[in-house]
Amino acid sequence: MGNETSFSYKGALLTADVVIVGAGPSGCSAAYDLAIKGFRVLLLDRTDFPRKKTCAGGLTIKAARALRYPFAPVIQRTVCNLSVSCRMRHRKLLKSIDPICHMVERSAFDFFCLKKTVAAGACFAVVKRIDRIVEGHRTVSLVTDCGLIRSRFLIGADGVNSRIRRLTARFPEFQRGFAVEGILDRAPSKDLSMGFDFGRVSGGYGWVFPKESHMNVGLYTSRSDVKITRQDLVEYALGRIGRPMPTRITGYPLGMGGWRYRPGRGRVLLVGDAAGLVDPLLGEGLYHAIISGQRAAAAVAVAMDTGSDACKAYANGMMPIQRNLLFSQSASAFFYRLPRMGLLLVASPPVRIPLMTGFSRGMPLLDIFIKAYRFWFGLSVPAGRKQN
Ligand SMILES: Cc1cc2nc3c(=O)[nH]c(=O)nc-3n(C[C@H](O)[C@H](O)[C@H](O)COP(=O)(O)OP(=O)(O)OC[C@H]3O[C@@H](n4cnc5c(N)ncnc54)[C@H](O)[C@@H]3O)c2cc1C
Repeated sequence: MGNETSFSYKGALLTADVVIVGAGPSGCSAAYDLAIKGFRVLLLDRTDFPRKKTCAGGLTIKAARALRYPFAPVIQRTVCNLSVSCRMRHRKLLKSIDPICHMVERSAFDFFCLKKTVAAGACFAVVKRIDRIVEGHRTVSLVTDCGLIRSRFLIGADGVNSRIRRLTARFPEFQRGFAVEGILDRAPSKDLSMGFDFGRVSGGYGWVFPKESHMNVGLYTSRSDVKITRQDLVEYALGRIGRPMPTRITGYPLGMGGWRYRPGRGRVLLVGDAAGLVDPLLGEGLYHAIISGQRAAAAVAVAMDTGSDACKAYANGMMPIQRNLLFSQSASAFFYRLPRMGLLLVASPPVRIPLMTGFSRGMPLLDIFIKAYRFWFGLSVPAGRKQN
């Protein structure tokens, strides 16, 4: 990152109020909120920034609204329309007057967020290896290649292969999805919609996202038993768009199953992909990464001020996220079993109108469903089900 924002601590015992491992969107969101409140925050990552992150970079309006700062400098394109199809047929264009998604490049977006977080007062440092975590009554210690780091709380924001999750043996029910993406060095077509093609991959879809001067193309599955290869992506891209062939093809898992995550007790909290918070229906992970980071930060801040139980507070803060995930999980079970019927449903006015309006207003899928249900059936939602 450069000397103005990183610092060296080799060999020393380092202390902080909160250590956050992973400086992606979930880690930065947690670090930003804690640093702004005046806590001493140490944000660690195994790589310096800017760094590459395999991601299509579709930042929905709800994710954009959750961010604490404007990020216009790193928006490549803003999209209003969705193009949906089933096995490249039955294409429907779902239009919205207002934007539904911003397109970013993750390396630039993540670096931007990290700089904002450091400007808010967090310290950033690179650690190559974390060997051990020792949880005590009042502190938690990390044994790293750079020495011992001690803090009152530890937030694991280190993504789908989280070292913190594994070293602390938390969340054994964790699951993985998978996605492969590539770049098409060709200017986006004129309609500039986000394209989703269902039925191509079991438990997922193919996508084409328009960026500034190229297109991002990919295949996603929420199922851990489904394999997607480079060749699958090449065939999909050629069939969908034609030449040139996609380049810079990379695949990466996504963290799933977070509706089962229980923070339990102690001083270690998991956020974002580390806690399996990717939406199984859409493969969207950025929104839950950002808000889970913020909710973990809020829980830790109160615990540091009052001595209350941070994990318990975080568990409460996670409830709306977990309700969203459960809803998406049920919706994806139906949608991906019958994609053609799902598509017909999505394109029909009773679903299309609230869906596109809800996306443009930054509403989570469950809230959109509740609102549409009320509107079309004039029924009240079961008591106790609050909107997020
Ligand atoms: C191909 C693909 C396309 C996607 N497209 C979208 C999309 O368009 N929209 C969307 O919303 N979501 C998308 N996602 C999901 C999204 O990328 C993730 O949900 C999101 O990045 C999660 O953020 P995070 O902060 O939890 O983790 P990450 O962004 O993965 O950040 C984790 C950080 O931890 C660091 N780290 C890892 N291990 C260690 C360690 N041992 N020590 C220190 N640091 C460590 C990493 O270097 C990284 O900086 C996509 C995912 C994939 C794979």
